[in-house]
Amino acid sequence: MGLVPVRVKIDRERCVVAHFCFFYAATVFIPGEGGKPVISPEYAVNGVSEGVVPDELYEQVKEAERHCPSRAIKVYRE
Ligand code: SF4
Repeated sequence: MGLVPVRVKIDRERCVVAHFCFFYAATVFIPGEGGKPVISPEYAVNGVSEGVVPDELYEQVKEAERHCPSRAIKVYRE
């Protein structure tokens, strides 16, 4: 299980800038243009809306996914 990367995606069109993601996973989601979140450079792949995070951050990004009111965050293993 730990060998499968944890992938995170932000749908910046859906995002309503509610800021929960910053609260739940502050090292992964950082404020970008217009206050909308981007994936921090440390974890970003394929631009600012996609990232791969280490296993120990799985619960944090999952919490952000659960609490995002616009369901703009997707977390999956692949
Ligand atoms: S929690 Fe969701 S709606 Fe709020 S800033 Fe993050 S992605 Fe956007």
